[in-house]
Amino acid sequence: MTDARGRVAIVTGGGRGIGRAIVERLHRDGATVVTCGRGERPADLPRDIVWITGDVSRPQDARHIVAGAARHGDVAVLVNNAGIQIEKTVAETTDDDWDRLIGANCRGVFNMCREVLPLMAERGGDIVNLGSISAMVADPSMAIYNASKGFVHSLTRSIAVDHGPNVRCNAVSPGWIMTEMAENGFALARDPQKAQDDSLARHPARRFGKPEDIANAVAWLISAESAFVTGQCITIDGGLTAASPLQPGLF
Ligand code: NDP
Repeated sequence: MTDARGRVAIVTGGGRGIGRAIVERLHRDGATVVTCGRGERPADLPRDIVWITGDVSRPQDARHIVAGAARHGDVAVLVNNAGIQIEKTVAETTDDDWDRLIGANCRGVFNMCREVLPLMAERGGDIVNLGSISAMVADPSMAIYNASKGFVHSLTRSIAVDHGPNVRCNAVSPGWIMTEMAENGFALARDPQKAQDDSLARHPARRFGKPEDIANAVAWLISAESAFVTGQCITIDGGLTAASPLQPGLF
């Protein structure tokens, strides 16, 4: 059990994937969970989870989401999970790609943090951002996605420094977590199955991640058990980035 019980928690992009696993975990742990996405409420979202349609890249939508959450009590937790991926090099990236990706992955995180920080200033709160191992090692043909996660890691540290001690801010940096986004990443390869097999062999954990692996870390990061942890980017990748480029199976 975490410290989620009785707290109002906003999880952006909770309709599917990692966000959905975080929503379900915090809900199970007793939080009042508010989530959002750009479309309509997903039909399979449990009824007592609050859904607000909104695009976090738009400041007015971020304001609307946070105001909607505040109607349920003091907003004590923000998980910035919403994000998109565009599989292009810098040379291929259009102005529209830039606006969409930087809008969601950078401006969206900024917009949401800017809205909740004044609410958390006195009563305190926990912010967890979804970074990525892509901020540390460059996935091919993901140029501005990789860079956007570097922004998230850096903003995480700044918020921790500027808004402690009442607010803690950390990031989780997932490796390959099997969701729609990860499948689109592998689909880029000339031979997607070979790319997956090769990637798997480089994971000391010998499996890809599950959304629940990330939800577990988020639950810990908003709990009292992590009270002395702030400004950190915690890698959850089954050991992928700990390994050298030599494929263990060949030795
Ligand atoms: P998915 O594509 O499966 O889900 C992304 C979610 O974000 C969707 O619910 C989507 O809803 C929502 N979303 C996207 N843009 C916006 C927006 N502008 N406003 C509001 N909601 C938005 O991705 P994952 O679950 O795989 O990824 C979740 C997070 O984890 C992302 O930040 C991603 O970068 C990060 N991550 C994922 C990894 C992986 O291997 N899967 C690895 C490392 C990091 P809708 O489209 O309906 O708006």
